[in-house]
Amino acid sequence: METIFDVVVIGAGNAALCAALAAREQGASVAVLECAPEAESGGNSRFTAGAIRFAYNGVEDLLKVMPDLSKDEIANTDFGVYSEDNFFDDMFRVTRFRTDPNLTEMLVKQSLATMVWMRSKGLRFVPIYGRQAFKIDGKFKFWGGLTVEA
Ligand SMILES: Cc1cc2nc3c(=O)[nH]c(=O)nc-3n(C[C@H](O)[C@H](O)[C@H](O)COP(=O)(O)OP(=O)(O)OC[C@H]3O[C@@H](n4cnc5c(N)ncnc54)[C@H](O)[C@@H]3O)c2cc1C
Repeated sequence: METIFDVVVIGAGNAALCAALAAREQGASVAVLECAPEAESGGNSRFTAGAIRFAYNGVEDLLKVMPDLSKDEIANTDFGVYSEDNFFDDMFRVTRFRTDPNLTEMLVKQSLATMVWMRSKGLRFVPIYGRQAFKIDGKFKFWGGLTVEA
């Protein structure tokens, strides 16, 4: 017996899985086909260890993505700010202005909203204390604008 799906998503990297979630949100039945063996699942996100860059204006924005941040974590951490301007600067500097301006604008301006949406779909995020923070005078300080991992 054949099974019919409304949407077939090829690949199970971050982009594909978000597309699959978005299609499900619209009520579509979805199949995701991934060619890698299960032990190598996750697409290239494996190489970033789940780190995701997005613009945030302080801990209030981070709480939208990580509502389970504890009071102690907040008190003992300087998460800093990674503004949309910071994100634009990094995109233009790293690519030497060879990035597509429309896609870059979408990436940067939708980055926080997309993280909040992913969280609403059940993804959990945590601060990357082990790789992206130094302890200075008893307080963790994040650097580089890469603060959160899945
Ligand atoms: C070494 C390395 C380090 C990186 N470091 C960072 C970083 O620090 N910060 C950062 O933001 N980004 C980093 N990136 C980039 C980031 O990982 C990628 O941009 C992102 O993961 C791409 O996601 P994607 O969903 O578009 O594609 P992918 O993650 O590549 O997903 C594509 C999926 O499709 C599957 N697939 C392909 N063809 C088929 C097919 N014919 N049938 C079925 N399945 C198929 C693949 O197996 C894979 O699972 C790094 C990438 C690498 C390789």
